[in-house]
Amino acid sequence: MLELQALTRRFDTTTAVDGVSLTVPAGQMLGIIGRSGAGKSTLLRLVNRLVEPSAGRILAEGRDVTALHGWALRAWRRDCAMVFQQFNLVQRLDVLTNVLVGRLAHQHGLRRALVLLTGTFSAAERAMALAALDRFGLAEVALQRAETLSGGQQQRVALCRALMQAPRLILADEPIASLDPMNARAVMEALRQVNRAEGITVLVNLHHLDTAREYCDRILAMQAGRVVFDGRPEALDAAR
Ligand code: ADP
Ligand code: ADP
Repeated sequence: MLELQALTRRFDTTTAVDGVSLTVPAGQMLGIIGRSGAGKSTLLRLVNRLVEPSAGRILAEGRDVTALHGWALRAWRRDCAMVFQQFNLVQRLDVLTNVLVGRLAHQHGLRRALVLLTGTFSAAERAMALAALDRFGLAEVALQRAETLSGGQQQRVALCRALMQAPRLILADEPIASLDPMNARAVMEALRQVNRAEGITVLVNLHHLDTAREYCDRILAMQAGRVVFDGRPEALDAAR
């Protein structure tokens, strides 16, 4: 369970996240919607401490995440796998190696992982990466360079990489914003499959309400850093 308590982040002139309080039960798929600049991305980055809060607290299973340092902070970041709008794959590397980076990130943190890339992976790790790819119909392209894949395929590869971290939480920041509708659908279905099958909690920033309504258990709407709606998709229909 993840709990945000009056979480606030100010930048010089703006309050990107303004006193957000919310409890996310383990295994929930939470869609965060709102216009550009509403604070969605900052909210996700606060959760894995890529951005530090100006005020407020984050608790995970009752533990104060905002107070973590050193190895404990790195362990928390490994618990929170990130998925980005631009996939962030190493384009010139093959798909399988891109997925295996997640395994190195699990052991060493992402930054060192990229440095250690030349190291070898065990047969078990390669099998694990292949199984992850196979699940999303990507085993055939495992040895192709990432740059040869479509955006939707690349995003699913990024999801496989995230899974190699054995995360408890997936933080997906506009994962479908640069995809066509068909690829967007495939990525949302992959996210939901991971959420349902593994019980991994998913926090996903989305531009379109319809997508959130279709795939998420709960919708959080943000406006100028504040939560303006929080509830089940059905409740949103009733409020309109
Ligand atoms: P969203 O993800 O909903 O588009 P963001 O969280 O990216 O919103 O941004 C919320 C607000 O905070 C915006 O006004 C944005 O310009 C501002 N902001 C975000 N990051 C920074 C930063 N590093 N420095 C200054 N302002 C920032
Ligand atoms: P540190 O700088 O404390 O050693 P890490 O090296 O673990 O932290 O991670 C560097 C940054 O990259 C962190 O902010 C972390 O949230 C992020 N990160 C870690 N793993 C991944 C991943 N698989 N994909 C994307 N981002 C990641």
